[in-house]
Amino acid sequence: MTISFAGKVAIVTGAGNGLGRSHALELARRGAKVVVNDLGGARDGSGASSAASQEVVQLIEEMGGEAISHGANVANFDEVQDMVQQTMDKWGRVDILINNAGILRDKSFSKMTLDDFKLVMDVHVMGSVNCTKAVWEIMKQQNYGRIVMTTSSSGMYGNFGQANYGAAKMAVIGLMNTLVLEGAKNNININALAPTAGTRMTEDLMPEEIVKAFSPEAVTAGMLTLCDEDAPNRFILCAGAGGYSSACIFETEGCFIPKTSQNPETVRQNWALLTAQENQQSLLSGAKQGEKFVMKAMAFMKSQ
Ligand code: NAD
Repeated sequence: MTISFAGKVAIVTGAGNGLGRSHALELARRGAKVVVNDLGGARDGSGASSAASQEVVQLIEEMGGEAISHGANVANFDEVQDMVQQTMDKWGRVDILINNAGILRDKSFSKMTLDDFKLVMDVHVMGSVNCTKAVWEIMKQQNYGRIVMTTSSSGMYGNFGQANYGAAKMAVIGLMNTLVLEGAKNNININALAPTAGTRMTEDLMPEEIVKAFSPEAVTAGMLTLCDEDAPNRFILCAGAGGYSSACIFETEGCFIPKTSQNPETVRQNWALLTAQENQQSLLSGAKQGEKFVMKAMAFMKSQ
């Protein structure tokens, strides 16, 4: 079973360094034509340069592949649209979008300025929204699309000093959950990747040997399973240092409290029941929660 991307056109954002670079190189090695997007700024989002993305294009060309670079700032919709237009002019389609570009502005919440919060939200959340919006109608018309959101354990579980980053990384899971419903009839699958890799984003947070063990290539091996023809849908893949797992939001079955007892004291008395994990489920849309509660109320009424 070989996973091939022959004939596919992929846009990888933030592909000048780290994970994006590794994703772009492996997609190209497996036959995809790749748009290597990168603003080329520093880890905190300041500055810009095309050197890194051009180097990735050169590497792809040296291995006999096809690639173009584009310096769009993913937080700027006009620049993103220009990138997608150039892709369409050159290759006439967009099959794969890897929303990977990212920055850090870590500080404890007390010390974090609102500007640091907004910039991180702009790059991770609006960057993913802008790029997805710019390819969405194209993918719908093609009746084919594969989109990967890059989330993080910091978003799913929290990390000291990363209120901005954690909020942004959880937001892209929310974006995925709704777009999965809206893209289903046009064969657009959307998944999320929660990576851990030794890159410039993490190099000063881990000892050198650990940085080496957490290679971007190990993450890319998992990422590619999220964007080929057989990709799952609405899957959160966690990957780092050769470890692979999946993350999921579950909701407990819960309990029903009749109208006459709907007060905080009774809710607390039922805590063990409402948090019991037997029969917990991963709900496939928000409406399913409402349906579950209606069923419980109806069952109670019938029992009276
Ligand atoms: P990196 O800093 O090595 O690479 C990020 C790239 O994104 C850089 O080349 C940068 O120039 C580019 N970029 C930043 N802002 C941009 C913008 N506005 N427009 C276009 N390009 C922009 O970081 P990385 O570790 O490779 O991170 C890649 C993604 O993985 C990020 O979304 C990051 O949040 C996520 N992530 C990484 C880790 C990890 O352990 N490295 C963990 C969890 C999530």
